[in-house]
Amino acid sequence: MTIKRIIVGELETNCYILRMGKDTIIIDPGDEVEEIKKEVGSGNVKTILITHFHFDHIGALDELLKYYKVKVNDFSKVEGLKVIKTKGHTNDSLTFYFPKEKIMFCGDFLFKNSFGRTDLETGSSSMMIESLKLINSYNDDIKLYPGHGQPTMLGQEKLYFTNYINYLENDW
Ligand SMILES: [Zn+2]
Repeated sequence: MTIKRIIVGELETNCYILRMGKDTIIIDPGDEVEEIKKEVGSGNVKTILITHFHFDHIGALDELLKYYKVKVNDFSKVEGLKVIKTKGHTNDSLTFYFPKEKIMFCGDFLFKNSFGRTDLETGSSSMMIESLKLINSYNDDIKLYPGHGQPTMLGQEKLYFTNYINYLENDW
């Protein structure tokens, strides 16, 4: 698998183009339709994956769905994909996990040294804690590709968010 990151739109959202042979998956096309099409080239787009439906992650979605004639979040089209529900930032937040490659595309759930805000519509800090606990059970050597900013390692982020969980739980 190869992973290409394109930074799109005003909020500098990470759009990822995954290639597995000819098969191509687009994750979070927030903007820049033409640039995404150019990067996909002659690749055979199987589906477009959306981590959550905030505007900065879906700006180019409708146009690309029509162009490639595919469905959104058509998980059965993606070999080796495990979908993990990671609510908190929004109640539709998903993490796309590829166990063989040891990578996760986590949208606005986790960032490098941070995680998603929970004060927007459908956000929930208690759901965020549940999701952090869930992701804490996965291996440290998984590489995270977040919705904004640089990739990071899950093991490194655990150091950060376990403190936060302890802090909040003791506070309550
Ligand atoms: Zn978001």
